[in-house]
Amino acid sequence: MVHTVNPATGEPGQSYPAHTIDDARAAAAAAHFAFETWRRTSFAERAGLMREAAAILRRRSDEYAALMTAEMGKTLTDGRAEIEKCAFQCDWFAEQAPTYLAPEPVDLGGPEAFVTFNPLGVVLAVMPWNFPFWQVFRFAAPALMAGNGGVLKHASNVPGCALAIESVFRDAGFPDGLFATALVPSAGVKALIEDRHIAAVTLTGSVPAGRSVAAAAGAVLKKCVLELGGADAYLVLEDADVRAAAKVSAAARMVNAGQSCIAGKRFIVVREVRAAFEDALVAAMRGYEMGDPRDPATRLGPLQSVAARDQVHAQVEASVRAGARLLLGGVVPAQRGAWYPPTVLSGVAAGQPAHDEEVFGPVAAVIEAADERDAIAIANASEFGLGSGVLTRDLARGERIAAEELDAGLSFVNDNVRSDPRMPFGGVKHSGFGRECGAFGMREFVNIKSVHVKS
Ligand code: NAP
Repeated sequence: MVHTVNPATGEPGQSYPAHTIDDARAAAAAAHFAFETWRRTSFAERAGLMREAAAILRRRSDEYAALMTAEMGKTLTDGRAEIEKCAFQCDWFAEQAPTYLAPEPVDLGGPEAFVTFNPLGVVLAVMPWNFPFWQVFRFAAPALMAGNGGVLKHASNVPGCALAIESVFRDAGFPDGLFATALVPSAGVKALIEDRHIAAVTLTGSVPAGRSVAAAAGAVLKKCVLELGGADAYLVLEDADVRAAAKVSAAARMVNAGQSCIAGKRFIVVREVRAAFEDALVAAMRGYEMGDPRDPATRLGPLQSVAARDQVHAQVEASVRAGARLLLGGVVPAQRGAWYPPTVLSGVAAGQPAHDEEVFGPVAAVIEAADERDAIAIANASEFGLGSGVLTRDLARGERIAAEELDAGLSFVNDNVRSDPRMPFGGVKHSGFGRECGAFGMREFVNIKSVHVKS
């Protein structure tokens, strides 16, 4: 059985029968069988089903949001927003697939030549718990619209969400078995990657998981896309509107209780405005009071598990021991469940976990920089390169730094980084490789084929 625990209360939740690796292999074979017909369907036919998936998501939004709250602690408000984003993703790729995957003519100076984008087959998706629906739809909507099938191995703490997602596609009328959930442990992923019915793999998760999936995919020469961790830096320049910058920073840090790959994690502040920024950041972070995730007014629910909370707290304590100063929070509340308060650390420097590692919780780390150049160097010194931000009143300066200087897959000026179906999403360095969303994302799981016709 796969067991769940309510992170808000520590109480056991629902349990689900686990699948065996043989079950998962059978699901991959069935998905491949369905794919052989699906790959020949028209975009219009696929789009009709994908729009129905969007409609189902919208109809069942409350139910699915409640499932996320029960399994990983997301607030109901955030859960509903996540389901709407998934529905938009389905609609977007239903509409855009014919454009994103339209054959491209190539001028060879005579005979007809063009490029087509054909599906690869069944994509294995290894997904994390933090956005249990969005991470899956981010891969699934474009992959299915491109004519592929999918097998989902979701994080072990969100089995109800994993099965619910399978039912969205089934109930929308997608062919039997084209998209299947396998409730298997991560130890079974390698065998699935090796399975002949799996054509490619996508993983969203941690660096160690990425390493192991990339190694397994490499050994059998299968395509893989990796969306891994981040230690997103936001540069607060001396000309920033400090209060506005603090609001953006708090919003960036507190998304999903700080449990987001693209949450702002390091706030690199030019010396002249550091003290004023810290005051404003503490005030903004204080506004994220912990509360019942089912209450629409709650802005900070529990973390996903007590173990995850304990890890965040250990990183905070080790940072303080190594010289960081606690400006807010940093104390584990005396209540059951995976609670952690909004926390701000100042004086964060190399050698501290808050500087060197990804902290997956509501903990903002302030790092002082001498000037713009120093701030950019500190931002780029990270092993990660996912999101990044620049906070400045000078938009041309912000644009230059965002576009040319920051080693990251996404750079936003005066706003917190968000994923969007219309823009490519992904990272560099240890944040992974490959892209999701937009045309670039849709073309990850296709055979980019050159065709030449001699008359
Ligand atoms: P995780 O432990 O890596 O788990 C993610 C998924 O990988 C789960 O399904 C997990 O299964 C599986 N997994 C774990 N170890 C594996 C292995 N050795 N081989 C194959 N599969 C393995 O990550 P997490 O702690 O749940 O999620 C947080 C991490 O994901 C953070 O680092 C975060 O930044 C990153 N993330 C990145 C993005 C992005 O788009 N770049 C988005 C969200 C999250 P089990 O649950 O069964 O162990």
